[in-house]
Amino acid sequence: MAAIHSASTKPELQLRSSLWHRGFRYRVNDKRLLGRPDIVLPKYRTVIFVHGCFWHGHKDCKYYTVPQTNTEFWMAKVARNQERDQEVWRKLEAKGWSVVIVWECQLKKANLDDTVARVSAEIVRNGEAYRAAQEERRKAREEYRQERKVRKKREQSLLEEVKSL
Ligand SMILES: [Zn+2]
Repeated sequence: MAAIHSASTKPELQLRSSLWHRGFRYRVNDKRLLGRPDIVLPKYRTVIFVHGCFWHGHKDCKYYTVPQTNTEFWMAKVARNQERDQEVWRKLEAKGWSVVIVWECQLKKANLDDTVARVSAEIVRNGEAYRAAQEERRKAREEYRQERKVRKKREQSLLEEVKSL
């Protein structure tokens, strides 16, 4: 069976449905965004990647054990994935996206509730920060507009003064 990159894994589906129940709305596997994040929450300017512990090298995780055979090959492969991940996060963050990583082991039954609580809190925080930044930009634009108005008025009255001389 061929592996399909965009196929959703079961832990990922669990996370998605938990978030949905908490009222979060999202897009999945958005091709328009770099790295095709698993979950995209535009309102909160947040993307979520659900990472397999082995393929992405989850540090100190019992599910990340380097195989005894072909050790170098596997280690190099995981290292490449990690490099690519970091590149993707950097670029997304440069565009104002907050990146949340969820490891598959954190979605195991015993950990799911804690993980959903943590991720939800992070999403909300990111959304607040995003809106605050937007508000700041709006204010800065408004100030600039006011300044220009005042300057224009001053120029106008100067012009009229000159004409009346
Ligand atoms: Zn793990």
